[in-house]
Amino acid sequence: MRNLQKHGIGVMGGTFDPIHYGHLYIAESSRCRFNLGKILFMPSGNPVHKKRNDITDHVHRLEMTRLAIAKNPYFALSTLEVDRPGPTYTVDTLEYLKNDCSGTARLFFITGADAILDILTWKDVPRIFELCRFIAVTRPGFSFRALNEMLADLTEEQRKKIHLHETGGILVSSTEIRRRISRGEPVKYLLPDSVEKYIEKQGLYRHPDDSCLSLK
Ligand code: ATP
Ligand code: MG
Repeated sequence: MRNLQKHGIGVMGGTFDPIHYGHLYIAESSRCRFNLGKILFMPSGNPVHKKRNDITDHVHRLEMTRLAIAKNPYFALSTLEVDRPGPTYTVDTLEYLKNDCSGTARLFFITGADAILDILTWKDVPRIFELCRFIAVTRPGFSFRALNEMLADLTEEQRKKIHLHETGGILVSSTEIRRRISRGEPVKYLLPDSVEKYIEKQGLYRHPDDSCLSLK
């Protein structure tokens, strides 16, 4: 990873249950806008902030992510969070990445602007801001008022490390995809074909209460 130090490294965390074009679009759009050398897609292990308790097994989420990013040479899969046992904290992940790059990499944590509103609830906020900058990508339906309220609680220095990236956005969410599949509705053009085929083959999301799906 050391030759990437000249350009920043984007970290695209998410549950990716399943990964869709909204994720791929904000990653690629951030890469171009902020001249990032690489984007690490990092599916969450055992998320501490996610309110759902029926998250699909990480083996499936990893495989779907691998399939989705396969054609973009700037995208890479990181298993850092799923490999770590127990709850994962962003601050630990960033610390690890920083050390892995001898402390010199510029890390950009990419989030939808809805997700960034939760930052203040994360573990060790001051350290997180020392370790990375944020790219907050606007998402359809996003409230600037809520963002401004959150920004007011940060220090001036921390505020400067949040870069708002306004894109037209893509109106898609994993929740909507899971809902559509459970009702037998089409999801074509919301996510890559390879991911759609994988979901079909593994029989994922067919029932709304498909909790903790077992592997086939
Ligand atoms: P769910 O509906 O299960 O919450 P999601 O579509 O929000 O899923 P996540 O895995 O929770 O997907 O999101 C990972 C990151 O991608 C978050 O920072 C989220 O805000 C962002 N994101 C997801 N979909 C979009 C989108 N359509 N536009 C912009 N950002 C998005
Ligand atoms: Mg979400």
